Amino acid sequence: MNRIVLPGATIGVLGSGQLGRMLALEARRMGYRVHTLSPGVDTPTGQVADLEVSAEYDDLAAIRAFARGVDVMTFEFENVSTDAADAAAELVPVRPSSSALHITQQRAREKGFLADRGYPVTPFAKAQSLDELAIGLGLVGLPAIVKTAAFGYDGKGQHRIDRIEDGDRVWGLIGHQEAIIESVVAFTHEISVVAARGLDGEFAHYGAIENIHRHHILDLSVSPARVPQGIADEAVHLAHRVMDDLGYVGVLCVEFFVTRDSRLLINEIAPRPHNSGHLTIDACVTSQFEQQVRAVCGLSLGNTTQVKPAAMVNLLGDLWLNGEPDWAAALAMPDVKLHLYGKSDPRVGRKMGHLTALGESVDEAAATALAARDVLC
Ligand code: AMP
Repeated sequence: MNRIVLPGATIGVLGSGQLGRMLALEARRMGYRVHTLSPGVDTPTGQVADLEVSAEYDDLAAIRAFARGVDVMTFEFENVSTDAADAAAELVPVRPSSSALHITQQRAREKGFLADRGYPVTPFAKAQSLDELAIGLGLVGLPAIVKTAAFGYDGKGQHRIDRIEDGDRVWGLIGHQEAIIESVVAFTHEISVVAARGLDGEFAHYGAIENIHRHHILDLSVSPARVPQGIADEAVHLAHRVMDDLGYVGVLCVEFFVTRDSRLLINEIAPRPHNSGHLTIDACVTSQFEQQVRAVCGLSLGNTTQVKPAAMVNLLGDLWLNGEPDWAAALAMPDVKLHLYGKSDPRVGRKMGHLTALGESVDEAAATALAARDVLC
């Protein structure tokens, strides 16, 4: 198997959402071909790929056939089974590896991995039954957040518990499945570090990005984060260590809480480009998606220099409640960049696109991006 995959070759992507789409657009710009596999058709990635294959992720025969047609394989979301990644890895390099995927796709495993190695994490307990949930709540204290261990993202499968009696109800709501219980962190900021690690351990990062969530979904990101430089540096250092410990190849995001007493706690790891890194497309010499192409293809990493302070706002399906948003109004603002993901069904809470704005300061960039979203409807 070739370690280095050069332009002209084919990158296979498991998953077909907006992350795969933005990856495919960069890869094609660089002269690669892109194949995508997911159960869907006319998907955000499929619309811009050379080939869209529709198959279930647990159809290992289909995964193997797909792998035979590509030179390297990656995934754009972490809920791909490791069986699928392992089946592909018998035929082509899979980057990041299925072992990194295995650890980071399940919260309990990920927290255990981090805690065992002494990383600062939100205080947590694991629960596989209602009894263990009650014990965990006692250990962690109230208020707490219960999160399903597997297949959670954007606050899905998360419930806050303020009173011990709520345990029963929440255990029902999450479907009696394995969960972790976390204490509610009183944070001053949420920040993320998007970084890449190459085949030979080369490391590159985009500094600390500041994130503001609404209803557990990312709403606004600004870069650089408005936190002291020492905190940003420590976050980058921790992300670097995590990637080395995972033997990681590719782009990864570590999300942190900054506590009132200026400590960093790792909230979670995403083994892929991340929503908070979308602003790198318009603000940095090398975007997180080009960086992912470079890393998974075994090439040197690109320059991550940020040209100007930047802000990104997400466009959720909620914006379509009164009809198609007024794109022309937002685009009348010359500093605003529109990214739409090609999704035809604008459900409430669904990520449909984002806007990026650059400015002389992050406050100015954020004000422009928010103003552009405001004029949409
Ligand atoms: P997650 O899916 O774990 O990243 O959670 C989504 C968002 O919910 C986070 O970015 C926070 O805004 C919030 N959240 C999750 N866990 C906690 C926690 N333990 N304490 C406070 N806020 C949390």
